[in-house]
Amino acid sequence: MEINSYPDRLDLSAVHIRFARESGVRFSLGTDAHAAEQLRYMRYGVAQARRGLVTRDELLNAQPWASAARGSSVRDCSVGSRRALRYHRNHG
Ligand SMILES: [Zn+2]
Repeated sequence: MEINSYPDRLDLSAVHIRFARESGVRFSLGTDAHAAEQLRYMRYGVAQARRGLVTRDELLNAQPWASAARGSSVRDCSVGSRRALRYHRNHG
C-alpha cells in the first residue's frame, strides 16, 4: 500500500499503517509530486512511516530492485500507478 507523502494527504494514517502491518502488508512511499520541487515532500512520508513503525523490510523503496520486484506486489503497484497517472491526467 502507498504511504502518500503529500502534506495535504499523509495517508495512510499511522494507525492504519499499524493495522496494515499486522496483516503483513508492505508499503511504498510516494510523494504525489505534481512538480519537481514537491519531491522534497518525501521526508513527510518517511516520518509517517516511522509513526506507523514500518521497518526497512516492509518498505519497497528501501529494497534493492531485485527483491522489490519479486512477488505480485510490484505488478499490483504498477497497475495502481497507471491508474493513478490516469486519475491525475483527468483530475489535475
Ligand atoms: Zn496527486
